Amino acid sequence: MTTRGQAQQFDKAAFKASVEKHLQATYGKTKATADARSWYLAVGRALAEISTGNLLATEQHVAEKNVRSVNYLSLEFLIGRLTGNNLISLGLYDEVSAAVEELGLNLTDLLEEERDPALGNGGLGRLAACFMDSLAAQEFPAVGYGLHYEYGLFRQSFEDGHQVETPDAWRGVEGYPWEVVRPELTQSIGLYGHVETYTDENGVACRRWVPGMQFEGVAWDLPIVGYDNKSVYPLRLWECRSSAPFNLQRFNDGDYVGAQYGQLEAANVTKVLYPNDNHDQGKSLRLMQQYFHCACSIADILRRHEAAGNKIEDLAKFETIQLNDTHPTIAIPELMRILLDEYHLGWDAAWAISSKVFAYTNHTLLPEALETWSENLIASMLPRHMEIIFEINHRFMLEVEAKWPGDNDKKRKLSIIQEGPQRMVRMANLCVVSSYAVNGVAALHSELVKRDLFPEFNELFPGRLQNVTNGVTPRRWLKFCNPGLTELVNEKVGKDWPANLEKLSGLAKFADDKAFQKRYMAVKKDNKQRLANWVMENMGIELDTNAIFDVQIKRLHEYKRQHLNLLHILALYHRLVNDPTFDMHPRVFIFAAKAAPGYALAKDIIFAINKVAEKVNNDPRLGGKLKVVFVPDYRVSLAEIIIPAADVSEQISTAGFEASGTGNMKLALNGALTVGTMDGANVEIREEVGDENIYIFGLLVDEVQKLKQEGYDPHRYYNADSLLRAALDVLETDEFTPGNPGQLAAIRQNLLNGGDPFMVLADFADYVKAQARVDAEYQDQALWARKAILNTALVGKFSSDRSIRDYVKNIWKLDAVKR
Ligand SMILES: *Cc1c(COP(=O)(O)O)cnc(C)c1O
Repeated sequence: MTTRGQAQQFDKAAFKASVEKHLQATYGKTKATADARSWYLAVGRALAEISTGNLLATEQHVAEKNVRSVNYLSLEFLIGRLTGNNLISLGLYDEVSAAVEELGLNLTDLLEEERDPALGNGGLGRLAACFMDSLAAQEFPAVGYGLHYEYGLFRQSFEDGHQVETPDAWRGVEGYPWEVVRPELTQSIGLYGHVETYTDENGVACRRWVPGMQFEGVAWDLPIVGYDNKSVYPLRLWECRSSAPFNLQRFNDGDYVGAQYGQLEAANVTKVLYPNDNHDQGKSLRLMQQYFHCACSIADILRRHEAAGNKIEDLAKFETIQLNDTHPTIAIPELMRILLDEYHLGWDAAWAISSKVFAYTNHTLLPEALETWSENLIASMLPRHMEIIFEINHRFMLEVEAKWPGDNDKKRKLSIIQEGPQRMVRMANLCVVSSYAVNGVAALHSELVKRDLFPEFNELFPGRLQNVTNGVTPRRWLKFCNPGLTELVNEKVGKDWPANLEKLSGLAKFADDKAFQKRYMAVKKDNKQRLANWVMENMGIELDTNAIFDVQIKRLHEYKRQHLNLLHILALYHRLVNDPTFDMHPRVFIFAAKAAPGYALAKDIIFAINKVAEKVNNDPRLGGKLKVVFVPDYRVSLAEIIIPAADVSEQISTAGFEASGTGNMKLALNGALTVGTMDGANVEIREEVGDENIYIFGLLVDEVQKLKQEGYDPHRYYNADSLLRAALDVLETDEFTPGNPGQLAAIRQNLLNGGDPFMVLADFADYVKAQARVDAEYQDQALWARKAILNTALVGKFSSDRSIRDYVKNIWKLDAVKR
């Protein structure tokens, strides 16, 4: 499937011997007793030997060069399976495929044995993974810092249409073959306790934190393998362990048994990933996770800096720290604390360093996702950090006073501290004040950050607020997941496009070539068949690959509007049943999405789609024209099967609410046509592919805001549109829940009496129109093929390699280090 990269020498006999060695020595199996899983583990281990060697060598090489690097701090890295992807990056896919065949194994089957490391919720975590891939591909020195959760994002199944969550023990009993523990990097982390003043040897009064508890941070490195080069960067994940004696206070008081109880608590810190996407739950264990992540990472960055013989005053020259959303904000007061209390720098000297180190990425404008933590909680868990936050804010308020003398409204709005019965720390404000650069994740989003979220900050700090449009790695999201299209593209534009995605534009001249159109659509059909087989095997539902495969895969959220898609399906159902003049091309609506376990309406929407699917898929009146499939347990490896098979990509968020989206990019790259609003990166996708190759509908950001201000009334749309009325009213009947009317009524309720906060009804009619255009144009296969080819050809901008180059040029200022 792949060409041989220049990256890696390969000795087949030695590799086979290594696999057999690991099978026996690491996993305790003979060739006679080994099952598919042990073979996968042994192959993974044998490959990890190569990548770990390169990781250590790269680490040494970068340290010797003593160059500037970026530290990407993220509570989430949704990396997906590593084995197949690393084989592509190492350039060893065909070699290893041949080697395992000689062992009597099939590589494709082996790869299916790997469980996804689901250490993230959705787009934000997946972005961090694509960025690490692109840093390594372009050899910009980098370390990814995250948490080694024992349980990743929950696994989803359905029982009678309801979402059921089960824990995701992603490492299994045997551990994950790609990771290596680094005990020499262990960090000791404090929590709770108090702050005291003491006089140092020069007679200067100093502050110091005396923690009440101590944790140990153990580092696990996952290899991020550079595509077609020899660089391997670490994704360093911290696992929390207790260090004995754990509760120092109690231990010192002689309460030995009580002191051990703390260990139970410590074992919880990295136990489980919080399953919320774009929502701040504000639990104290979450703050503990955040601090643990930041403290381990900052300590490790300083360790590297010192080991290279660099002075602390030069920290900002050698290290930059990118904060992926506000989740790692506490790294800012942590670095200040160390500079002040451990290096004994004065405030100005410490701030001069710290304020040149951090950069912050904003991921959302949603108020419920903007993190705040109560002063009380921070002061109890991290008393010294709370003092430092107050000091940062005090000095910042003086700046605001200087700029807008006497303007208390401005102070109230900009303050890091939100006043009220319970004072709260606004993490985004702390980030903007303390970072040298702040970026949004798509052009539109970054404009809204400047215009609506932080206009005063933009005035106060001109140039600080910037844009870096997101991207996705073409290695995983085309070369690995779509071998058929890869072969076709290789033939037309050469083989170096995975490292230079703009080269795909060379396909554009074949968009009208009938022979090429046929081959392109044949690849699509094969991918649809691959998905249809998967759905048959796993769900027992038969799909016709002549139908339009219409895909909406992403977290379940009201702003993403899976319920708008559902209303369209109900409208089609209504017409097929009641309007003899209505006809349509067969269509399969494919959903995949997890709902946060505490998000009731999101779960109601899943239930409703499942119930509608049950009825629709078995209703003889529809003549097979309509199928609905909700694929359980959305994850990276599932996206890799669905995306290459998609004809239509649903990107239908309320304008102004989706910061960027990256699913939209993956789908367009694989030749799906977008039905989308003018939101997030859809705007830039339209700019690239052209208005005739995308189906744009719905209100614009300014129209959404204006309508909301004027007083939005969903009943107006309900009363005026009989099709909409039919789609909504059927939710109150027992049409889809025989004998149990009203089981789906919560959605209708939310959209009518609940005020329809995301303006689903306002966009419904235009959405239906856009979908009618899709239906008509799909039936002209040459026209459709042309559009799909042009999507693949013209989305080169959305490579995460380009995003990383933007960061490097405008924010990080790094040089590549080639190995
Ligand atoms: C790309 C991706 C996402 C992000 O999808 P959006 O449509 O941008 O929200 C979420 N989850 C997984 C598994 C992904 O691969």
